[in-house]
Amino acid sequence: MELKHIEHIGIAVKNLNESIKFYETVLGLKCYSIEVVKDQKVRTAFFKIGETKIELLESTEPDGPITKFIEKKGEGIHHIAYSVNNLNEALKELDSNGIQSIDKVPHKGAEGLNIAFIHPKSANGVLIELCELKK
Ligand code: ZN
Repeated sequence: MELKHIEHIGIAVKNLNESIKFYETVLGLKCYSIEVVKDQKVRTAFFKIGETKIELLESTEPDGPITKFIEKKGEGIHHIAYSVNNLNEALKELDSNGIQSIDKVPHKGAEGLNIAFIHPKSANGVLIELCELKK
């Protein structure tokens, strides 16, 4: 597998609007996109810093994965996303190495990217997202 760069870092937050304010007024980044991803039961806000983005994640449902994450661990870093050229090949490679991925096939994430998650159990407790580079 060849990772290209850190696509984004996902951060679980309780209140998206307040967090956007912090990132804009204190850290000086500009939110360029707010998007609901129904699939993941989240509302996301994106910021760009160099080639990498920061993705703030707020749960839209009381049973959503971000709600559960915050209940267990509190707010904080939720996942790290790496970009890959070919997500299908990357998933096949994981499978043949016996690595547990949450998604067997790519699905659509924020910004219309094809994404898949690797289970934290297989990755030192870190939820890893693979994002396919736009062609
Ligand atoms: Zn993400």
